[in-house]
Amino acid sequence: MARELACRKCHMLTHEKACPNDKSNELSSEWSGLIIVLDVARSNVAQTLGITVPGRYALKVS
Ligand SMILES: [Zn+2]
Repeated sequence: MARELACRKCHMLTHEKACPNDKSNELSSEWSGLIIVLDVARSNVAQTLGITVPGRYALKVS
């Protein structure tokens, strides 16, 4: 299974060619640190990263 790509803008992980969150096609295969955000309002990590939609995100995208 191919490695997921991370959106450079919102860090959401996807197997698509564009980010499902913001439709950006600036995706990177160079990322590290997987975060799964279920409850945006109660996640400090989500608030730090500016995540507003539940989902799977990369901590770092390069
Ligand atoms: Zn995105």
